[in-house]
Amino acid sequence: MRSESSVRYSIVVPFYNEQENIPPLYMKITEVMDSIGESYELIFIDDGSRDNSFKVLSDIYEHDRRVNIVRLRRNFGQTPALKAGFDFARGEVIISMDGDLQHDPEEIPRFLEKIEEGYDLVSGWRYARRDHWLLRQVPSRAANWMMAKLSGIELHDFGTTFKAYRREIIQEIQLYGELHRFIPALASSTGARITEVPITDGERKSGKSNYGIGRTIRVFLDLLIVKFLLDYSTRPLQFFGLLGFGGATLGMLIAVYLAFEKFAHGVNVMTQHGPLMLLAVALFISGVQLVSMGLLGELIARTYYESQNKPVYALREVKSHRKDVGDTEQTRPSGSSER
Ligand code: UDP
Ligand code: MG
Repeated sequence: MRSESSVRYSIVVPFYNEQENIPPLYMKITEVMDSIGESYELIFIDDGSRDNSFKVLSDIYEHDRRVNIVRLRRNFGQTPALKAGFDFARGEVIISMDGDLQHDPEEIPRFLEKIEEGYDLVSGWRYARRDHWLLRQVPSRAANWMMAKLSGIELHDFGTTFKAYRREIIQEIQLYGELHRFIPALASSTGARITEVPITDGERKSGKSNYGIGRTIRVFLDLLIVKFLLDYSTRPLQFFGLLGFGGATLGMLIAVYLAFEKFAHGVNVMTQHGPLMLLAVALFISGVQLVSMGLLGELIARTYYESQNKPVYALREVKSHRKDVGDTEQTRPSGSSER
């Protein structure tokens, strides 16, 4: 079925100032992929490097036709860089990994085995971490635990970019911000079958990590976004409306009680129940506000889905006798963008 020009595997690697790491990584990847014996392409993204990364990549490109370079205009960050690579990839299966030699290409076949078994997304699991335990391991464990709870996907490790995906799965997902670590959660909402394989967590061979503790806070905020996107993006009124009705109802009940006190017992509610009255008013007003916000959210959600032609469902396969239903490939998502 595969046409001449299509390839089986695309390896996507983003680089930001990794000049020393590029040649050894390239050698290892090609060695492993050649031994598999299927067609493949390499998609190297230069994410606005300020060192010689682009020159090093270009030299490799000159003598290897399987190499593609996607060079970004400036440093956009790991997520947009990956997205640019995913959009460019043509392989039926896409493998993403870091460019700092922390991921060992020798482990790629283990991911591919799982894909052959029928999974749509295979995620790496760093079972023995090497990062700083307090600055990176503890927050990452907490985030992983929350992520598993929120998304209902039983993965140990959401954070690594060492993953394999069927192309249609990854290309359907809109990626921005730091969302690349939530790909499994976003993918599962489209019905992807997900599994994980243990990987070793190598040490950075040279250069330095681009992230520190500051990232943790952003990750937790993104967690909130993902939860909202997954569960309520198509029905924001359910989220805000519930809170709003709760607040307004409580406010009403208190007001009724206060009115009863005033008219039945002649209590001066202003002086005797001042705080309670304030609470009733605050609850009622904020309740009404929340409901209105939910309604606005509904309006925005509709504009969003309709203007972008964003599918609210995802197909796995289509069988039909109609002439125009030849293949199930989705239209390609529009280019990457920053948040
Ligand atoms: N990276 C990138 N753009 C950035 C930051 C990082 O393309 O703005 C790449 C980087 O070159 C590496 C991968 O993303 O290939 C992971 O980055 P890093 O090693 O800094 O992250 P860590 O391993 O510390 O999580
Ligand atoms: Mg790294």
